[in-house]
Amino acid sequence: MNTDIMALIELKDVTKKYDKSTTALRHIDLSINSGEFVYLVGPSGAGKSSLIRLFYQEEKLTSGSMKVGEFDLTRLRKKDVPLLRRSIGVVFQDYKLLPKKTAFENVAYAMEVIGEKPRHIKKRVTEVLELVGLKHKMRSFPNQLSGGEQQRVAIARAIVNNPKVLIADEPTGNLDPEISWEIMQVLERINLQGTTIIMATHNSTIVNNLRHRVVAIEEGRIVRDEEEGEYGYHD
Ligand code: ADP
Repeated sequence: MNTDIMALIELKDVTKKYDKSTTALRHIDLSINSGEFVYLVGPSGAGKSSLIRLFYQEEKLTSGSMKVGEFDLTRLRKKDVPLLRRSIGVVFQDYKLLPKKTAFENVAYAMEVIGEKPRHIKKRVTEVLELVGLKHKMRSFPNQLSGGEQQRVAIARAIVNNPKVLIADEPTGNLDPEISWEIMQVLERINLQGTTIIMATHNSTIVNNLRHRVVAIEEGRIVRDEEEGEYGYHD
């Protein structure tokens, strides 16, 4: 048996161009192991969101190679994209909840679309809503929830199918500092349960106080990669 530790995520010489004059990522080499917590930092326009969109194939890489779990993204067929997306949970700054569904239904929907059994859905959705601290509001609609509560629902939805990786693009971007800390506690808990977390952020207080690996991107290049690094910018 091969006992080498394989990286969960591996990018080799990845370049992403949107058109001839826009190169968002240049020659990225990056390796992330299972269970890591990685902050992606860098100025606006540096390429953080472009990198995140490559992970779940909302965008295709232009050249280089990229692996996420067992998926080789350079060779991934269109029909396998939903399978890849099942192994990745994604959380955004603006929550993206379905307004006509309750908190419970928003989370349950992610299981329904992959054909899980209703009994299993009820048990698992209750469990993840409890994990994010929102079980008592599971019958509320998004417009009856605060921003922090909506983000908890979005996180519950992102992890309900047990993804290997949770990707968060500025998850605290719309939240005040106290609520941002609460959301970070939830992400910490999820990471401690073994889920790999990649989080793009401009929140220097969080990065400097809740230390994890920091990967800094500028003009499409990785310019810094440090264990327990600092935020390092003044914005
Ligand atoms: P960040 O997330 O760090 O702010 P982005 O990945 O959004 O950076 O942007 C990196 C570069 O790619 C910028 O020059 C941006 O204008 C460009 N870009 C991002 N998305 C697109 C797109 N869909 N089409 C064309 N150019 C884009």
